[in-house]
Amino acid sequence: MNGSTNPCVGQMSIYHDEVEIEDFEYDEENDTYYYPCPCGDRFEISGTELKAGKDAAECPSCSLVVKVIYDIEKFRTEDKIKSEEESHPKSTSSAVVN
Ligand SMILES: [Zn+2]
Repeated sequence: MNGSTNPCVGQMSIYHDEVEIEDFEYDEENDTYYYPCPCGDRFEISGTELKAGKDAAECPSCSLVVKVIYDIEKFRTEDKIKSEEESHPKSTSSAVVN
């Protein structure tokens, strides 16, 4: 893979981070998931949005966006018990070759 940065990418959303849904704090009354933002506010995304396939939680204060890592099937079929948990290896490969 060529990891060259392309400054011309304008139409893709740039995520501040990627956060698993399990790391979010769930508010049952509002059906909304929260995650602390570095600005002091919180990213938020509703369960309805997750079911609709949205995976970007926005912070209303600083407009940062994090990508929510979740399995949409779990939200669509809520009575399904999660059987297996896939482990995503976090490899921060910053290949800078001269
Ligand atoms: Zn913020």
